[in-house]
Amino acid sequence: MARFIFVTGGVVSSLGKGLSSASLAYLLQSRGYKVRLRKLDPYLNVDPGTMSPFQHGEVFVTDDGAETDLDLGHYERFTGVSAKKSDNITTGKIYSDVLKKEREGKYLGKTVQVIPHITDRIKEFIKNDSSKEDFVICEIGGIVGDIESLPFIEAIRQFANDIGKKNTLFIHLTLVPYLKSSDEIKTKPTQHSVKELRSIGVQPDIIICRSERPIPLEHRKKISLFCNVDIKNVIETVDVRTIYEAPISFFREKLDVQVLNYFKLKSKKPANLKPWKKITKIILQTKKQVNIAIIGKYVELKDAYKSLDEALTHGGIQNNVKVNLVRIDSEKLKVSEIKSKLKHISGILIPGGFGKRGTTGKIESIKYARKNKVPFLGICYGMQMAIIEFARNQLNLKKATSSEFDRNGIPVIGLINEWIKDGKTIKGTDKNLGGTMRLGSYDAKLQNNSKIKKIYGKKIIKERHRHRYEVNINLKDKFEKKGMSFSGLSPDGFLPEIIELKNHPWFIGVQFHPEFKSRPFAPHPLFSSFIKASKNHK
Ligand code: GLN
Repeated sequence: MARFIFVTGGVVSSLGKGLSSASLAYLLQSRGYKVRLRKLDPYLNVDPGTMSPFQHGEVFVTDDGAETDLDLGHYERFTGVSAKKSDNITTGKIYSDVLKKEREGKYLGKTVQVIPHITDRIKEFIKNDSSKEDFVICEIGGIVGDIESLPFIEAIRQFANDIGKKNTLFIHLTLVPYLKSSDEIKTKPTQHSVKELRSIGVQPDIIICRSERPIPLEHRKKISLFCNVDIKNVIETVDVRTIYEAPISFFREKLDVQVLNYFKLKSKKPANLKPWKKITKIILQTKKQVNIAIIGKYVELKDAYKSLDEALTHGGIQNNVKVNLVRIDSEKLKVSEIKSKLKHISGILIPGGFGKRGTTGKIESIKYARKNKVPFLGICYGMQMAIIEFARNQLNLKKATSSEFDRNGIPVIGLINEWIKDGKTIKGTDKNLGGTMRLGSYDAKLQNNSKIKKIYGKKIIKERHRHRYEVNINLKDKFEKKGMSFSGLSPDGFLPEIIELKNHPWFIGVQFHPEFKSRPFAPHPLFSSFIKASKNHK
């Protein structure tokens, strides 16, 4: 049976629970164990699919088509293991499952309650599909003390009781602030947070203390004493310069060793930190730089394009160049400013997006990239905008548009209600917004002699999708005559997946999200190629 590690947070949010969990997973994996990561989110949305990126950052999509928390992206990037639908759950999903069962009369006349019905459903989720794992690391979203997270904490308390404390480990991540005015490190918030956790029955076994500066031994002793945790299990995590330094830092602090000791397990092989050291060095020391513009609606929030930022960094690692991300708000971008704003840019990227706002800025930037031969990568909405730009300016279809935001123009991008996956027809619906898009991994067939086929080095690729609208295949010939080829199609030939310009050094649009599959040690070929082209641009 798998051993279960629960990671809770205290004092404030955004301390890096996801990265700590992912780092620990890597370290255990590199010591020879099979690890799976899960995230339990206390909010009421059934999944983050309908939330604005301003609320919760990027929506990460899995191969099996789940719209999940962005931490699952960290998990995949750190461990190389693809996440599944069954790795992320929210209070909303738990409640909707329980309520559905109640309506079906499956509780046999009982009063349905938070304890045991909600907590049972949470426990079921934690345990499901875990028989092949050595460890399941479950991160609980939010912080201890939130009303919403109470049922989750209660469920993990019960869980430890159900499967035995020796098979369960509680890690609590807290903030140990430094006060400049008194030049002091303070342990009180951590003490309070642990007190809160203990009041609901959970005694942490390991405390990870996030701090701006190293925590002196006497403070660690204090935390150990007041929080009833072995001093060796008071682990510090001092701010790192790049997230890829985190596994190195946790290794130095012996987090993985303490976890194995707790479970009385031995390391099957020494942990390998070499790949992390190598990429950290490239990220921190490479002198050559390349400026990449990301032109989108959500640029003000750093987490909104998390996987994209990481994939671009991976492309930089591959090409030994530092990628400077220049974030440009497409809504504020005036047509008259485009030239001056993009003058020092070597590559232009238009990411995924929804709705009309900011489309003019995107379309005009694409025109600039096309005309000035600046490397361009359009992702999902970015590809759709490239199609509209080309139709308007090269095919002279001035009213070309997407039916997503204009019902009166010529819908070069339109809603489709049916598509094929794994030989089966899937029907979309426009009644519900959540979970009704073309989601998850789909095959695409690449055209011989295309740039894209050279980049991937194979004919069939699998990439993750998240969109409702598609490029109208009927326009294929018209576009190709003018130099834009549809170089990747769905296997049945109906859905354009990739476009590229013939007379341009690097201009590619993809209907899918390649950023979700890029890994630091296996940079995605599209991003490597895009950065390479950008590096060579003037
Ligand atoms: N809004 C577009 C669609 O639904 C694109 C979505 C995206 O960029 N992920 O088709």
